[in-house]
Amino acid sequence: MSKVKSYDVVVVGAGNAALCAAISACEEGAEVLVLEKGPEHKKGGNSFFTDGAIRVAYHDFADIRKVVTDLSDEEADSIVMPDYNEEDYYDDIMRVTEGKSQPELARQLVDRSFETLVWMKGHGVKFELNYDNQSYEKDGKRHFWGGLPVKTENKGIGLMKQLFSRAGELGIDIWYEAAAVELVKEGGKISGVVVQKGEERINVESSGVILACGSFEADKKLRKKHIGEEWEAAIVRGTEYNTGDGITMAVAAGAEKFGEYSGCHSIGTDYHAPKVGDFKKPGDIFKKHSYPLSIMLNKDGKRFVDEGADFRNYTYAKYGREILKQPGHVAYQIYDSQVRPLLRKEYDLEEATCYKGETLEELVNQLSVNKEQFLQTIEEYNAAVQDGEYNPTEKDGKKTAGLTPEKTNWALKVEKGPFYAFPVTCGITFSFGGLRVNPSGEVLKTDDEPLSGLFAAGEMVGGIFYHNYPGGSGLMSGAVYGKTAGSSAARYALGNKRDSTIIH
Ligand SMILES: Cc1cc2nc3c(=O)[nH]c(=O)nc-3n(C[C@H](O)[C@H](O)[C@H](O)COP(=O)(O)OP(=O)(O)OC[C@H]3O[C@@H](n4cnc5c(N)ncnc54)[C@H](O)[C@@H]3O)c2cc1C
Repeated sequence: MSKVKSYDVVVVGAGNAALCAAISACEEGAEVLVLEKGPEHKKGGNSFFTDGAIRVAYHDFADIRKVVTDLSDEEADSIVMPDYNEEDYYDDIMRVTEGKSQPELARQLVDRSFETLVWMKGHGVKFELNYDNQSYEKDGKRHFWGGLPVKTENKGIGLMKQLFSRAGELGIDIWYEAAAVELVKEGGKISGVVVQKGEERINVESSGVILACGSFEADKKLRKKHIGEEWEAAIVRGTEYNTGDGITMAVAAGAEKFGEYSGCHSIGTDYHAPKVGDFKKPGDIFKKHSYPLSIMLNKDGKRFVDEGADFRNYTYAKYGREILKQPGHVAYQIYDSQVRPLLRKEYDLEEATCYKGETLEELVNQLSVNKEQFLQTIEEYNAAVQDGEYNPTEKDGKKTAGLTPEKTNWALKVEKGPFYAFPVTCGITFSFGGLRVNPSGEVLKTDDEPLSGLFAAGEMVGGIFYHNYPGGSGLMSGAVYGKTAGSSAARYALGNKRDSTIIH
């Protein structure tokens, strides 16, 4: 070991959860070091790649205006925004996780969400309304839906820029290309971290260590081991550095693994998206989230999910897995010219892979699929579409009858050319397995007791998300648990320091 350094609190990782933890620890008076495995030009973790959507509980539009402050009264008057209180948020988590989310952890996330957003704003994070994806226009008013009206200004890029800037103002040290490789434990307590910084091994002494270094989604072998054989083939939507290091180190030090190790958040992403997140192309531009308005067919020319089961907020995080199960891990979202103008912005980007044909035959001839079956499936689908009013702004109940699987909302015949096919594959966002923490952010051991001196936040917290998650909860969870772990670790470390000063 070439060097020894000392800090009150060390935070491992430099994403949203980590920087919220670092700022919060600093507020408590701690001297803080942040360790980031990647180089400076690849900083910000998965948080940098996000769309910035952040799910918060609020009681009325006045609450939202406390964080989105640059709305004129005129603009505010044109907005209709249903309330989304703590119970709504909690119920959504429980619904999409099929009741498996740990109540204590989910409660903490939900109950602390609004105050944490206000706190982030106080530290310079700017928020705006999520007009593009979460609202529609009706009778001259802008109607919000889905409990997700807030996003960070300029997506994850803006969020991370503002958090790094605040960390800089507060004098928080950040080391890049500095991977935590081992936790140091003395007398049953965590007392520091071993860091690989370039060629150097540095022992950083610290009585409060916060792990906020993601889960294992970027590690092929761990994906295969925990989630399943086919997950080796998934595209990694975000940073290449979240390879499970935090979990491995913590478990070696006695922490309990917790949460759904076989589960992950994944989506349908452009078939030609980069294999791992490209830091030069952030902003979540490869997703393809208008599929509830599509029919999705695999290479065999068969449908395989109810595309219209619910709004995308509640199905997108689990349909990636379904796409991965298809032959060649590919599916084609099919639209006709009636629906094409309704698609989200990402479909118009130059990065979007798209095939177009004036007729369905012309379209299908460009795809490497079972052409006969493809056309037959569309014909059968068209024949099964029931009458009803088509309305993409609500669950319209316009469905098919007699198909397996049915399409239960937004079923419109695919009949007016030109026709479009967007190929998608599975992109993993993050894995759900992590560590067990209590609501103070302390990491727990297998005997249920805290592993003294060790805290965790963000993706590292297991037990909140199972099967699926309500969109926008990842950033909120990182912020809530980051802030909590930061203050808990600082109080713990500063308490230890005072005690040792008294003793000596
Ligand atoms: C394309 C995309 C879009 C998304 N959109 C949204 C959205 O709109 N809303 C939402 O809520 N969520 C979204 N998510 C999910 C969200 O990104 C995560 O839930 C959240 O950002 C995780 O934050 P984190 O701080 O835990 O991890 P990260 O932001 O990934 O940070 C972890 C950091 O730890 C570092 N690290 C790893 N190992 C080590 C080590 N050994 N030593 C030092 N550092 C290490 C990594 O380099 C990384 O910088 C999206 C994710 C992706 C990929």
